[in-house]
Amino acid sequence: MKKNDLFTVKIEGMGNEGEGIGKVDGFPLFIKDALPGDTVSVKAVKIKKTYGYARLMEIQEASPDRTEPGCLLNRACGGCQIQALSYEKQLEFKWEKVRNQLVRIGGFTDPLVLPVIGMEEPYHYRNKAQFPFGRDRDGKNVTGFYASRTHRIIPNTDCALGVPENQQILKIILEFMDKEGIAAYEETSGEGLLRHVLIRKGFATGELMVCLVINGEEMPGIEALADSLFEIPGMTSVTLNINQKNTNVIMGEQLIPVRGKTFITDRIGPIQYQISPRSFYQVNPVQTKRLYETALEYAGLTGTENVWDLYCGIGTISLFLAQRAGKVYGVEVVPEAVADAEKNAELNGIRNVEFYLGKAEEVLPDKYKKEGIRADVIVVDPPRKGCDAACLDTMIRMKPKRIVY
Ligand code: SAH
Repeated sequence: MKKNDLFTVKIEGMGNEGEGIGKVDGFPLFIKDALPGDTVSVKAVKIKKTYGYARLMEIQEASPDRTEPGCLLNRACGGCQIQALSYEKQLEFKWEKVRNQLVRIGGFTDPLVLPVIGMEEPYHYRNKAQFPFGRDRDGKNVTGFYASRTHRIIPNTDCALGVPENQQILKIILEFMDKEGIAAYEETSGEGLLRHVLIRKGFATGELMVCLVINGEEMPGIEALADSLFEIPGMTSVTLNINQKNTNVIMGEQLIPVRGKTFITDRIGPIQYQISPRSFYQVNPVQTKRLYETALEYAGLTGTENVWDLYCGIGTISLFLAQRAGKVYGVEVVPEAVADAEKNAELNGIRNVEFYLGKAEEVLPDKYKKEGIRADVIVVDPPRKGCDAACLDTMIRMKPKRIVY
């Protein structure tokens, strides 16, 4: 088998990134946008020793699990991978992924994994988007999302997962850039001013936040831009964030207020939250409520427990649990998030919480060694890379009755 060879394959499985897997004489090929149950013609693009990659040329026989994708750009855009798969099957794919990790990495033979709790309508649910700016071949300013595995922008101001206001906000910014002659930042040269825009909406409150990330200290004409943005109903906060580093980390450290507040407020269930641009906030408010309610149920609290909420962000889970715990301690590494968490406790009149700024893998072992802290329940919601070993070791040593991960 070599590059550019053509084959017909029946797709039998799915890779970690949602690619279809089919075998040619026992040799597995990974094919983006092909789904289990499809029979497809493909062209080999890269052949390795034990597997290869191929491009989908034509669907000869469509899988019964195919569905109409909600976005026409779903194949080009790197944001979504398996939109053409029915939502029910998407949830099964996630379930299997979790189960596989427990078997392959965790070494469990038959772990109990409950079904994934899905949502009603899996579109237009995201309360946050970070759009990069760039230029197309004609030098025109564009925004959208990156194609998969590249930083090439697929122009799109109306992501099917996002809120309708995204389109309005992006149109205003693009027109402003053209009018003021503001150049989009270019990663290769490090030149240009506007890098990204973070847009966030409180679904319960309707409040909107726009934070422009710039490669500079100021943005010419920003007041006029704020005027236009504030004509959008719900606009609550316009800020600048400075990021002059040559990095693909989106946000820099410094935040400059431009108009309105430097945060928005939202509600999940009975709790109100104040959210700053750099603070983490769950992106799917409908599912967040179910997630937190499920965490609360699994924590099995009776009103007296000592609870540690590691990687607590703006204290969302901590405050949810505090409703039924003796005392909740949160640990978080981003200073603005800890400030938000403390503010949020106050905002809701919740007094049985305390937040610590620092890394979970340092704060927890330190407090355990020096102060002998204890926990009935530990809740962890770490970033994608997971918990540090030092954190996990201490969690085990503390012998909590329950761990909710
Ligand atoms: N539980 C929160 C936040 C979860 S996101 C919620 O549901 O909203 C993960 C959080 O972990 C982020 O706020 C991130 O800033 C924080 N974080 C990342 N690395 C960390 C570390 N080593 N120690 C503590 N917090 C960390």
